[in-house]
Amino acid sequence: MHDVINPATEKVVATVPSTDEEGTDAAIARAHEAWPAWRALAPGDRANLLRAFSDKVRDHVEELALLEVANSGHTIGNARWEANNVANVLAYYAGAPERLFGRQIPVAGGLDVTFKEPVGVVGVIVPWNFPMPIAGWGFAPALAAGCTVVLKPAELTPLTAIRLGELALEAGIPEHVFTVIPGKGSVVGQRFVENRLVRKVVFTGSTAVGERIMAGAAPQMKRVTLELGGKSANVIFADADLEKAAATAPYGVFDNAGQDCCARSRILVQRSAFDRFMELFETAVKGVVVGDPSLEATEMGPLISRTQFDSVATYVPDDAPVAFRGTCPQGPGFWFPPTVLAPVSSTAAAFQEEIFGPIVTVTPFDDEADAIRLANDSEYGLSGSIWTRDVGKAIRVSRGIDAGNLSVNSHSSVRYWTPFGGFKRSGLGRELGPDALDAFTETKNVFISTED
Ligand code: NAD
Repeated sequence: MHDVINPATEKVVATVPSTDEEGTDAAIARAHEAWPAWRALAPGDRANLLRAFSDKVRDHVEELALLEVANSGHTIGNARWEANNVANVLAYYAGAPERLFGRQIPVAGGLDVTFKEPVGVVGVIVPWNFPMPIAGWGFAPALAAGCTVVLKPAELTPLTAIRLGELALEAGIPEHVFTVIPGKGSVVGQRFVENRLVRKVVFTGSTAVGERIMAGAAPQMKRVTLELGGKSANVIFADADLEKAAATAPYGVFDNAGQDCCARSRILVQRSAFDRFMELFETAVKGVVVGDPSLEATEMGPLISRTQFDSVATYVPDDAPVAFRGTCPQGPGFWFPPTVLAPVSSTAAAFQEEIFGPIVTVTPFDDEADAIRLANDSEYGLSGSIWTRDVGKAIRVSRGIDAGNLSVNSHSSVRYWTPFGGFKRSGLGRELGPDALDAFTETKNVFISTED
């Protein structure tokens, strides 16, 4: 058994069982047994079940959101968005079973067609920072493709995933088609990698664990999708709308207390606009409302755990170049104030390492080439933002930055109908968008002779 802690109060909110190896293998075996019937279901029937699941989640958005506030310390506004995101992703991929098209390719002497065959049992491993959306991005397209799913939530944040598993059954998804098994990464997650009945692992989490999963999957040629760390740049040119760039920059990095793989945690500002930007940015950072996540006006909650707090705090030693900080509550809870380090050189640990907390570095640059060089001076390549009024420059810089998800004059990188994923050590493969089903299917080519 494992205690689940509310990070805003440090109180125990629930006790959840930890599945052992045998329990994991049994769940995988049942998912494997459930697969032929699920895959054989008429496309329209599978689509209807996914629509029913989506409706069921939509009916429980408030309950799920409150559960996430208590378990993860997410602001109520964010938590509602996250629960709705699961319903939206299910609704989007409910349109997929009837559209799982193959091709007809011209050949001599017959007919050539391709099929997209579901890979089989999919193991989804979810981190603690966005428990609901990241679960949905894995299980919704997998189910739509005709795969069955076993899902392991993070030890710290299992509650919403467990509830989603119950809602799936209530919506009519057959037993063992979607199973949520809480437990440790080193036990349940490891079995997903080792057990031969799991044909694909979808992993979101740290790059270190992602590496081990990829290596562990290699002997079986097990398919993997990896969504890993990030250290994204927010590039602000002197010709940008500086007021807007400064007003939005805190939310591009401090959302979810910075525990976001897309956090724009390296701000790069053109030197001629540096001082003006910092002046505007200070006002914006001091205006971030940090506090009780259940209150509607709150913009940032606590960090997820004491361990995370201790890890984040190492990036602000006594001699850190703190430019200014926001505020946060005192007392119980893992509170860390929004913190701005500036100016920070590209060799500093705070510039290179993923902090996963509300800390941002600010670094000046000279010109377009310098901006691209600094933005790419990272082992990661997940997302980023570019602020300029020059459309040509926006496009050139977007093409120059090695990252999977960029936004110009905005910080949005995630829409369920557009692809999401990273370059370099930020991962492998893409989730969401029109092509996500490819990650859960194998292309089969069949030639049919028309010779007499
Ligand atoms: P983590 O890698 O420790 O854990 C992620 C998940 O993997 C958890 O469910 C954990 O139990 C499981 N796990 C741990 N060891 C395992 C093993 N040996 N085998 C199989 N599974 C194992 O990461 P975390 O601390 O939960 O999350 C924070 C990290 O995740 C950050 O680095 C962040 O950037 C990254 N992240 C990336 C994305 C993305 O989309 N790219 C999204 C969220 C988080």
